[in-house]
Amino acid sequence: DRGLAKLRIRLYELNREAARYYHGVLLSAQGRAGMEYFEKRALAPKTISRFGLGYAPSDRFSLVNYLRKKGFSEQEMIQANVAFSSRNGHAIDRFHDRVMFPIIDLRGNVIAFGGRILGQGEPKYLNTSDTPIFSKGRNLFAMNFAKDYAEPYLVLCEGYMDVIALHQAGFQNAVAGLGTALTPEQARLIAHYTKEVVASYDADAAGQKAASRSIPLLREAGLTVRILVVPDGKDPDEFIRTHGESGHARFQQLLDSCGNDVEYRLTKLKKDINVQTPEGKIHYLNEAAAVLSALDSDIEREVYAGKLADEAGIQRAAVLQQVKMLREKKQ
Ligand code: ATP
Ligand code: MN
Ligand code: MN
Ligand code: MN
Repeated sequence: DRGLAKLRIRLYELNREAARYYHGVLLSAQGRAGMEYFEKRALAPKTISRFGLGYAPSDRFSLVNYLRKKGFSEQEMIQANVAFSSRNGHAIDRFHDRVMFPIIDLRGNVIAFGGRILGQGEPKYLNTSDTPIFSKGRNLFAMNFAKDYAEPYLVLCEGYMDVIALHQAGFQNAVAGLGTALTPEQARLIAHYTKEVVASYDADAAGQKAASRSIPLLREAGLTVRILVVPDGKDPDEFIRTHGESGHARFQQLLDSCGNDVEYRLTKLKKDINVQTPEGKIHYLNEAAAVLSALDSDIEREVYAGKLADEAGIQRAAVLQQVKMLREKKQ
């Protein structure tokens, strides 16, 4: 309706002003701690301005006062979730002493913020909650840039800093979720721009679990999925930074050589099972058959059944028989 449409326009304007404010603070003496933080993380000034990064000062009303001068009401600030309401009803800044990452939609509107604490502490990232102009499950960080570089594939990672480090290193096709598990809407958003995605989640257990969970969603969106596991337990940002000058080339190598989702799942199984004993080998083959049974394509099932059979020194027909049995059981 008209009222909602008007409100949304106001909130877009408010968020743009807020982003301008945080960015201005970052570049001023007041933002020194934030700037030092970004320097420590090897971000160039060009990167900082391209992503419109900012700094939220530690006092309680700085953004609220700024926005009030720009003509926004406290109610609007609270609706945009850049402020919250104190006990006596006054608006207080939501973000304090954090470096700020504006989240920008496909039309270039600032729709939300992520804010990272400078040191240790909880929560490490504080994000805008859902508002009339922001739904975290329907947006991807940096898609506003990456959509123009989406062919032949997009790179999906976990964090803001991963995306920013990748873009700075020349990979403008990187996007990230917004601090929650990947949603079907996000998978469809990716599929709207490309046919293939390389998921490059953190190499730790949490990241690998998230990668495994995102595979079926990405597949269901019609995407070809490859999984890049960053070596040495790192995330893409740390990997790029560690390799300095050769960061681009090294990450490109990882992109060129990483396998698809089925290979990833089979490799993972094999790592977890001791295939040296007959029991282990049988267990592995059964689990692997279960992975294959979930594939919709006959051709895919045939190809991987062949690989498994060769590897195990058995007949392909035996693997396919097991896969068929599992598929029938499922229906
Ligand atoms: P950094 O490199 O700055 O430490 P990261 O991106 O590597 O950050 P992770 O802990 O790997 O941090 O988390 C990945 C992503 O998950 C973050 O970029 C952020 O979007 C989200 N996230 C992390 N911690 C939180 C939190 N406490 N609340 C909400 N979202 C979070
Ligand atoms: Mn992580
Ligand atoms: Mn990480
Ligand atoms: Mn990180």
